[in-house]
Amino acid sequence: MYLMQDPFGRTVDYLRVSVTDRCDFRCVYCMSEDMTFLPKKDLLTLEEMDRLCTVFVNKGVRKLRLTGGEPLVRKNVMWLFERLGRHLDSGALDELTLTTNGSQLSRFADDLARAGVRRVNVSLDTLKPELFADITRWGRLTQVMEGLKAAKEAGLKVKINTVALKGVNDDELETLVAWCADEGFDLTFIEVMPMGAIMDDTGADDSGREGQFMSLEDVRLRLSQRWTLAETSYRSAGPARYFMVGETGQRLGFITPLSHNFCELCNRVRLTCTGMLYMCLGQDDSMDLRAVLRGSESDAKLSSAIDQAILKKPKGHDFLIGRDADAAVARHMSVTGG
Ligand code: SAM
Ligand code: SF4
Repeated sequence: MYLMQDPFGRTVDYLRVSVTDRCDFRCVYCMSEDMTFLPKKDLLTLEEMDRLCTVFVNKGVRKLRLTGGEPLVRKNVMWLFERLGRHLDSGALDELTLTTNGSQLSRFADDLARAGVRRVNVSLDTLKPELFADITRWGRLTQVMEGLKAAKEAGLKVKINTVALKGVNDDELETLVAWCADEGFDLTFIEVMPMGAIMDDTGADDSGREGQFMSLEDVRLRLSQRWTLAETSYRSAGPARYFMVGETGQRLGFITPLSHNFCELCNRVRLTCTGMLYMCLGQDDSMDLRAVLRGSESDAKLSSAIDQAILKKPKGHDFLIGRDADAAVARHMSVTGG
């Protein structure tokens, strides 16, 4: 089998696709309240996304994650899941999955399971309804809870993603571990990353990220006082370090781009909804695949453009957070999809 390898010997076998930059929430660390979204005509059609993903699968991608923005608000997105499911049936793909805020899961969980999705990542930063409304601005906790229930009933395995925010949800991290254990969910904590400017109407930084950053190393030490955390060699083809919680048997992950760099194991590239391929979440190296895709009906040019892009995959990111650190990259997480 042909494999895509970057200049540092890393095999790229994981593609994350942001299917839309739009979202039905406005999480404070992710988006401004009034975002300007891309005009619809700039987006790849779902057929184009299927074509591109298929080229990647033929080039050795074994895992596809659809994300966004909120992937489940893209019109007809289930058509794309169903189409991509054929690569699971053929054995070319090991996993088709998504990252979602959970708001639409009660509507789509059954369809996702039917398309071959086995696991979902659901982002949830708090179990307090009021705080949930504050963090997401437009979300309601009950909607996500209903979505989680539907996911369970559909047989989907759930992993919760929680951004740890000092002074916001740091008093709830233990509660979240215990709640996930009761629900049978895995849990991953994420450090807040400096992506995309979030400004108030005077142009001042309004993201609060600087004050909210907390090192997950400290969180891990804190949780170790209550639970036995044993580091595992488990890797989910993602950047998290995983621990088993001795008392509950659940898996607990820590994504630490700022306090611990994980780039040496990076196996993924990211496609935006306009067909830009980004080689690193924290760098600007990119390749416009939409022009190549629309310029030729054959996939040969697309395949060689992807090869050239992979050769530009940087060694790593250099995220910084702090007083003088501007957003490390100008685009929001919702562009490249977390
Ligand atoms: N809307 C979906 C969701 O929220 O799960 C998928 C896209 S969202 C951009 C993917 C993940 O990125 C979420 O878990 C979210 O919490 C996280 N995220 C967004 N902005 C972030 C930031 N600045 N730092 C760290 N994580 C961020
Ligand atoms: Fe939307 Fe996800 Fe960003 Fe929240 S984190 S605003 S749910 S894209």
